[in-house]
Amino acid sequence: MKLVSIIVPCYNEEDVLPMFYEEIQKVMQQMRDEHSELMFELVFIDDGSKDKTLEILRSMALQDGRVRYISFSRNFGKEAGMYAGLENSRGDYVVVMDADLQHPPAFLPKMYNYVKDGEFDCATTRRVSREGESKVRSAFARLFYKIMNKISQTEIVDGAQDFRFMTRQMVNAILDMHEYNRFSKGIFSWVGFRTKYIEYENVERPAGTSSWSFWGLFKYSLEGIFAFSTAPLAISAILGALILMIAIVFLIVLIVKAIVVPEPDLRFLAALCIFSLLSGLNLFCVGILGQYLSRTYLESKHRPIYLMRENEEIYRERMEEKGTETE
Ligand code: UDP
Ligand code: MG
Repeated sequence: MKLVSIIVPCYNEEDVLPMFYEEIQKVMQQMRDEHSELMFELVFIDDGSKDKTLEILRSMALQDGRVRYISFSRNFGKEAGMYAGLENSRGDYVVVMDADLQHPPAFLPKMYNYVKDGEFDCATTRRVSREGESKVRSAFARLFYKIMNKISQTEIVDGAQDFRFMTRQMVNAILDMHEYNRFSKGIFSWVGFRTKYIEYENVERPAGTSSWSFWGLFKYSLEGIFAFSTAPLAISAILGALILMIAIVFLIVLIVKAIVVPEPDLRFLAALCIFSLLSGLNLFCVGILGQYLSRTYLESKHRPIYLMRENEEIYRERMEEKGTETE
């Protein structure tokens, strides 16, 4: 038997969760009919939702033994949700997908076909269109991928998504990356393994709203740049080197003037020269410091990636206790 864990991060998804559950059940049934070796578990992450998401998950878990959930103590973000899901999954294969049906469950059988013979370690989708997204947003997204791929050694595929069907081996590799500031698009790519990209057109949400604001996306893309590139820290070193060069030019002019011109007035030039020399040196040294700092800064905190408040086991126990009390 092969167990497939389906991980679904949810933040305020009361509107789409029932729809998602219905869809995924159909697909799981279809896959079981085709491949009798398959078994499933659903691992939902309630990322500190403020609506009825947790209540829905509780009742789903009570009715359906395949449903498990982890509820966070507060909103930790989708990245933390995915990590919690991966960490708590037990499957030989692990799927990560959104609750909002923008990652169509109908792709799962196709994805499984790619990973099942070991030819690929991961099957994922790649959006080829950004339909339904504002022009400004798409333009910024494109710009981000361009910059990112220039300044980072880790390749980030434009349109790649967090909709993935992975082998246990790849999941363990991802779990070995304990970094606190997680940027999954970078992490998936960094661990390597053989990935199959399935292209598809963008799908719009049937209900609920996207929880990404433009500003949120902007901050997330900075996360990507800072987590997978130290190029920004090099800016001050480069700037410093440039100013130092200018200082040297001033110095040469100063010396030449001192030799060639009879009774030269060098005060202004000398001041300029000293000023640029010192400030250039300053920036350059700060830049070097930055290089060391970048390697220790974030990881030194060792904070947990998420904190759990409740899961289906805790909830079941609590319900049982309540049951014996009332008897
Ligand atoms: N999500 C989450 N925590 C958050 C924000 C989002 O777990 O803080 C989940 C959300 O419930 C959904 C997925 O991440 O299942 C993608 O979110 P969304 O649809 O808002 O993003 P978009 O599709 O617009 O990129
Ligand atoms: Mg979405």
